[in-house]
Amino acid sequence: MTRQSLSQSTPSRRALVLGLGTALLVAGAAMAEDLVGGTPNTEMPRAPRPKRRVVKPKTKAAPHPTEASMPAHVEPEPGLDPELAMARLMQGNARYAAGFAAHPDMDMIRRSEVAKGQKPFASIVACADSRVAPELIFDQGLGDLFVTRVAGNVVDDAVLASLEYSVIHLGSTLIMVVGHERCEAVKATIDALDGHPSEEDRGTLISMLANLIAPAVKAVPVGVPDRLEAAVSLNAAYAAADIFSRSAPLRARVLAGKLKIVAARYDLDDGKVTPALGKG
Ligand SMILES: [Zn+2]
Repeated sequence: MTRQSLSQSTPSRRALVLGLGTALLVAGAAMAEDLVGGTPNTEMPRAPRPKRRVVKPKTKAAPHPTEASMPAHVEPEPGLDPELAMARLMQGNARYAAGFAAHPDMDMIRRSEVAKGQKPFASIVACADSRVAPELIFDQGLGDLFVTRVAGNVVDDAVLASLEYSVIHLGSTLIMVVGHERCEAVKATIDALDGHPSEEDRGTLISMLANLIAPAVKAVPVGVPDRLEAAVSLNAAYAAADIFSRSAPLRARVLAGKLKIVAARYDLDDGKVTPALGKG
């Protein structure tokens, strides 16, 4: 439960710095507009001072002040504010759940656009279950989401590394771990822990997945009416907490208000995604 409480402590700390982060983003955007747009500073055609270095036309935003002294390898241009990314994701799910999916960013123009480079606004960790396709349930298109999928939406080293890449190199500002109703990987883990493993799984690596899901199943309080449902939610929460606790660079971004990590539950029946921590 410590990991869960750790996860729950992040929003309040993030909230403390969100205002500052937003102000910096706004200031950065305004600065970029000034530099890229039609109001060049004619008094300084070739700014000699290091902090006012010349910005090439393709650069859309100035670096964060604290990172200005860093050499070539800096963050990509700022992504969406994490709260706006969350809102965009949830609005897409609302369209999908209501039967009004817009299927955005799927035409040839978009394909050509993202062929030149990607800038997904959110990263999704989802179960490999065929009914939980993130681009569909969030009504997004090409280049919108960075998706890692594995049965039971667990976070092993490869998944965590993928998430780090999506945030650090591609500018994603939201990570959502999506557990889902009646997850068969979680159900199989419950059965195995109860001493009833599937005979068909013998000789496979399926137990490796169960080992990663087991901590959440074991944490379900005795007597809970729907054990599977509780384990699904806990499993997603544990994965979100793992991302926060195991990755120092991602944790730093969360605490600075630049990244949001949330767990969520997808309802197979009504199509709705419900963030575990409530805020969107
Ligand atoms: Zn599943």
